[in-house]
Amino acid sequence: MSEEKSLNFIEEIIEADLAAGKHQSILTRFPPEPNGYLHIGHAKSICLNFGLALKYGGKTNLRFDDTNPVTEETEYVESIKHDVQWLGFQWANEFYASDYFHQLYAFAEKLIEKGMAYVDDSTSEEIAEQKGTPTTPGRRNQYADRSPAENLQLFRDMKAGKYPDGSKVLRAKVDMASPNMLLRDPILYRIKHAHHHRTGDEWCLYPMYDFAHGQSDSIEGITHSICTLEFVPHRALYDWLIEKLEIFPSKQYEFARLNMTYTVMSKRKLLQLVNEGYVEGWDDPRMPTISGMRRRGYTPKSIRDFCDRIGVAKRENMIDLSLLEFFVREDLNKTAQRRMAVLDPVKLEITNYPAGEFETLFSENNPEMPETGERLLHFGRELWIEREDFMEEPSKKWFRLAPGSVVRLKSAYIVRCTGYEKDEQGKLTKVLAEYIPESKSGSDTSGINVKGTIHWISAEHAVVAEVRLYDRLFKVEDPSSEEGDFKDYINADSLQIIEHAYIEPELLKAQLGEQFQFLRKGYFTLDSVHSTPNKLVFNRTVSLKDNWAKSAK
Ligand code: ATP
Ligand code: MG
Repeated sequence: MSEEKSLNFIEEIIEADLAAGKHQSILTRFPPEPNGYLHIGHAKSICLNFGLALKYGGKTNLRFDDTNPVTEETEYVESIKHDVQWLGFQWANEFYASDYFHQLYAFAEKLIEKGMAYVDDSTSEEIAEQKGTPTTPGRRNQYADRSPAENLQLFRDMKAGKYPDGSKVLRAKVDMASPNMLLRDPILYRIKHAHHHRTGDEWCLYPMYDFAHGQSDSIEGITHSICTLEFVPHRALYDWLIEKLEIFPSKQYEFARLNMTYTVMSKRKLLQLVNEGYVEGWDDPRMPTISGMRRRGYTPKSIRDFCDRIGVAKRENMIDLSLLEFFVREDLNKTAQRRMAVLDPVKLEITNYPAGEFETLFSENNPEMPETGERLLHFGRELWIEREDFMEEPSKKWFRLAPGSVVRLKSAYIVRCTGYEKDEQGKLTKVLAEYIPESKSGSDTSGINVKGTIHWISAEHAVVAEVRLYDRLFKVEDPSSEEGDFKDYINADSLQIIEHAYIEPELLKAQLGEQFQFLRKGYFTLDSVHSTPNKLVFNRTVSLKDNWAKSAK
């Protein structure tokens, strides 16, 4: 039975537009402001814009919305490009809103000449006060009566740098009584004597978002300009400007932004976490940034599948972080190589196995992909196992090691626990067992039925590695909606560093970007920042659903 996915509302609009011959093909854009690193919310927008173009045989532009000179940096531009490509998308053109400064300026002069824009000398307080309130109309001041010729001269002088910051603005002459406050003669240009990352000191006059964005869409011929719901009230101005300028009729459509539990998703807040040292950087594996998720081991496919699954909503909602983790597990289960690592080691001594002797065993790399073959394991008298796999006084449902119990050592033998040793403080130092020679995995003739399987590593061959386990960055679902500062809700235990874990020697070959399932412990990948050939550091990407012990043979 084939399952047709129903169209989302944007797809419906696109299909109707194409059917009506309104456009021959579609052109979308992803328009990040280069003032921070991309986060999972941006991934949603990227998957949507690029995904629609792919689906309908159109194209997508990457446009840097770099109209605010103060907050933007080249470092951000580079990281954004990297992240988009890493997610698996390629833009048709790389554009910068700043490339359109001359064109935008010409548009502004056109509005002035048409009597649809004027230079206002009021302070920002005066402008705010004259704007009125949502229930009372605003009023125009004397500057609104300036002639087009006078406005043109003033605007040119503003551009020439004759006036200080904040002394004048250019406003569109729309409607001071509109119930939509954004139409009450909105500001189009402001004076800012600031250095821009691309245009340098050429400009001291910068367009506002509402003037730059729609006009940039139109210059590029964007057919469907998709943004988030907070821009709904801006749409009237978007349409007004395009209509008055008589330029390509781009259209704006809004969808609900992605919100996710146990994190924050605003660049401003993420920047605070970085600058105030709560995290290691934008790519800290606990961050909701694409770079953080990449470092943590999330895959592009898992993020794309997640974005696809949550769909396009028209109302704000909160998506559970565990849904994203579900897709990460799904993908990694298929692709990750299986390895063994012991995070909290205790010795297991096989007392009937000769000291100093070893044998080699084989274990599959990935049962989901038999073609990936097997790897070699060493087995001997002394092994490392997890401390938590032994219980002195077991409960009824305990299927792991306990005095007298039998368990299978994964891909090796069945062992029977014969005793244990403790130090003076009562801490377990060693578990003793005897192995059953005829129970070797793959050729087991012992007839013994075991209910538990545990992982292990030959003590002689084990390699020390650091392992980093992550928990949610915040203690509450929605830190931004809590009382007080969102940082008051940071989870102080979100990073646990295990400096002395044991890994199987096969992992010495691990490459950056490669993913592993450490049996029963989760999915892991090398940390791109801290790992060195002399000291491997692994990040836990995500834990396993803890059903491995039950289902493993
Ligand atoms: P932030 O509030 O995190 O600073 P922003 O909206 O200012 O984000 P931009 O760089 O302007 O960031 O965003 C680029 C594009 O990504 C815009 O089209 C924006 O609507 C979209 N976007 C940003 N955040 C989200 C989100 N949480 N969900 C969906 N789309 C988003
Ligand atoms: Mg923005």
